Formats: sequence, structure tokens, C-alpha cells
Amino acid sequence: MNHALRCTSCGAAYSFSVERKLCDKCGQGLTLEMKPSFLEEPGEHGIWRHSGILPAVEKKFRISLGEGRTMLQHGLRIGRSIGVEELWIKDETVEPTGSYLDRSSALFVSIALSLGYGRISTYSTGNLGASLAAYSSKAGLKTHVQVKPTIDVGKLYQMIIYGAEVSVVNSFGKRAVKGAIVAVEHDPLINEAKKTIMLEILLQLIESPPDYVVLPMGEGGLVHATYKVMRELRELGVAKGNIGIVGVQPEDCKPIVKAFEKGLDTVEAEAEPRSRIFDLNVAKPRFGNSALRAIRQTGGKAVSVSEKEIFEALSLLAEKEGILAEPAGSLSLAGLMKLVKSREVERDSRVVCVVTGSGLKDPRVMKEIAYKKSSLGMLIEELSGGVRLGSTKTIILRLLSEKNMYGYEVWRGLREKYGINVRIPTVYQHLSDLVEKGYVRRVEARRVMGRKREYYSLTERGEAIV
Ligand SMILES: [Zn+2]
Repeated sequence: MNHALRCTSCGAAYSFSVERKLCDKCGQGLTLEMKPSFLEEPGEHGIWRHSGILPAVEKKFRISLGEGRTMLQHGLRIGRSIGVEELWIKDETVEPTGSYLDRSSALFVSIALSLGYGRISTYSTGNLGASLAAYSSKAGLKTHVQVKPTIDVGKLYQMIIYGAEVSVVNSFGKRAVKGAIVAVEHDPLINEAKKTIMLEILLQLIESPPDYVVLPMGEGGLVHATYKVMRELRELGVAKGNIGIVGVQPEDCKPIVKAFEKGLDTVEAEAEPRSRIFDLNVAKPRFGNSALRAIRQTGGKAVSVSEKEIFEALSLLAEKEGILAEPAGSLSLAGLMKLVKSREVERDSRVVCVVTGSGLKDPRVMKEIAYKKSSLGMLIEELSGGVRLGSTKTIILRLLSEKNMYGYEVWRGLREKYGINVRIPTVYQHLSDLVEKGYVRRVEARRVMGRKREYYSLTERGEAIV
């Protein structure tokens, strides 16, 4: 490949090599120097339809699972409820492995194949590993993925079933796999393919481009790639007008937002990254400085959102638009809602929110949200192999559903109604376990003949089980 690599922060130039991932001088991410030639290649599949804006890959090496060309939904119902009628949702949940990174894997795996590699090695918080595993299968390459024990379980299932070799590590290291090409989240090639999202949006809204495009930020690579393609298209004389880039981070890890708010030119590392959204829990974003610049130069915004706001947006996407997003994918809508509330984005704006990934990949979070939303607590617990209550505990709950009782009454009820003979301390142990699990609460204590009686009652969760 005869492209040059340039540092997105200090501008240092390097000749291209798949092994070079970061700038030696400043440690920030690198980007390919590209001159796009054309926008669409008719008859091609997946991202290859837009091969004119991607590094050149011979047709015989191009791998696709049908990624890209995702629908741009008019989010009319959410739009009305938040007061932005011109809300558009770029729905990446429908990508082959459920993540926008399928675009990146298509490019990366094809290049690996064209360079003669037989193996890909990567470390991943989830989505990238699962996606590369799928595309490697299609190409006949082997994938090795390092994951942390905190990985979203759905993404782990994906990797394993696609046939990747998975090793669990506590911290990601440069464990070399012989003869493998290394793919990383901040890889110049991985980022390059993300440009196709903004290109598709511009082609889909060709008559009236949006005022804002809203994106989640972890490494900042999607913001970087989006701005890059805007500039490339301007050079081609295609894009006109200005589109403000809005970058959204979770409140528990928001180094880029902090730098934006403080008016800094460079992003400082987050001292204690604590977001449970692992794909976005990036303390030291490699494209942070570039993302910051993109946001400022387009007159955009950077905003952070709480977990509660993210889950609200996730629910709205599902209930009002039929889109089941993962938390990271819901960040863009959560950010927009916040900016509309604070009037930083005007209600008559045309806005595109990019929803980057599917909720089915994250059963733990899905369970948490479904649990809160429905009365099927018991069924959800059982199906997900969560807490399994023993028979005595289940019967105690049944007894308490008749009326509130104190410990001795429960003991008598077990014995008289169900023929269960247990000792009184055992009954109290069961009751305190049930309180701890949130199925039962203590409601009142009365003194009867000098002795304290504590009454127990079912909680909503307990009622759901009975
Ligand atoms: Zn640099």
C-alpha cells in the first residue's frame, strides 16, 4: 500500500506499515493520507460500494458479509416526544455482527488477506473481537482475541462460536502471535472504514444535509473518521454547508468532554475511568485531540451523559422506533436529549444520531433493564440462571403474600400448612436472605408482652415471584 500515515495530533509523517499503530513522537493515533476518487462503485457489495474513499484492495481479496448501507430511519416518534421533528437515526444495529465495526473488519480482514497473512490477533473489550472473528471466518483466517474477564458475555459467545481463539487476561498486553497481523481499536485501517457511515448519511440526505451528527466517543475514532470524510468530500467538491459534530461520552469516563469544557487543546487522561460501558471506558483516547479539533472546527458540542440517561435513551429507541441498541449505541440519543433540554441544540435542527450497535450483544444489561420494566421478575431470574430460590424460600414468599407475618407465624405456617418442619433460627435465616435479595422487607416492629416482633412483607420483586 503506498499511502502515508500522518499523526492526527502533531502531524508527524510515516510511511505506511500495518505494524505502525501510533505516533512515536506524541503517542496519538495515525491516519491514512488519502485522496478519494469517487463515491460509489455500482455492483459492489458492502463497504466496497464506497471503495473510492478507502485504501485500494484488489477485488479478489475483498471480503463482505453485507455490512454498511444501513437504513437511515426518520425517528419521527422519538423526535416528537423530545421536540426535534427532524431527527434521523442511522441504525447500525442491523450490521452482520450487530456493530458498526463490521465496516472496519471488512476492510481490515481484506487487507490482511491481500498481504498474505493467515492470522489476526487483537485485544478487545468486545465488539471489535466479535466482528473480526466473523470476517476472519469468511476469509478463512484464524483470529486470536484477548479479552478481560469483564467482557459482555454476548460478545464472548459470538467470538467463540465464530471460531476465534479467546484468551482471558487481566490487562491487555502485546503478546505476539507468530505470523499474525495485529488489529487494535485505534488502528488507522480500522478507523478508515468508519468514514463510510458519514458518506452514506450524506448520500441518504443529499437534498438537505443535517445540521448536526451525533456520535459516541471512546477512542474518538468515529468522530475523527467522520470529520475526515467531510473534508475529503469537500475537496472532491461534493459536500457543502457545515455539519456540527457532537461527541458524547459516558459521565464516568469523559476525558474529551472535560477538555472541551475547559477549552484545552489536548485531552488529559481520565484518572479513574469507571464506566460500565466497556467499549467507551477509554481513559486515554488515541484520537482524543483529533476529535476535540473536529468538534470545535465544525461548531459542534461535546457532552456527557449518565447511565440513567443512557438507559432512558435505550428504552426510547426500543419503544418508539423498534430499535434495540446496546448502551454504547444509545449514547448519541442520550446526548441529543440532554442538549435539547439545555437548548444547546435548537428544536428546529436536523439531526442524525448514529446508533452504533445492537442490544442483543449485551444480555446482562438487557436483563437489568427488562427487570426494571416488567413484572416478569421471576421468569427473568429463572431463565437467566440468576437467583434460584429453594422451595422453602418460595413457600415463605407464598405465606407472606397472604398477609404480613412475624417470624414465629411464618414458622407455624410452614409447619401447619405445608408440613415443613424447620427450626426457628432457620426461618429467620431464610427471611434475612430474602430481605438481602430484595424479595422481602421488614415493615414494623411491635412489642408484645415485652418481646419484640418484627413483621415481614413482600416487596414488588417478591410479589412478582409469587
Ligand atoms: Zn504525533
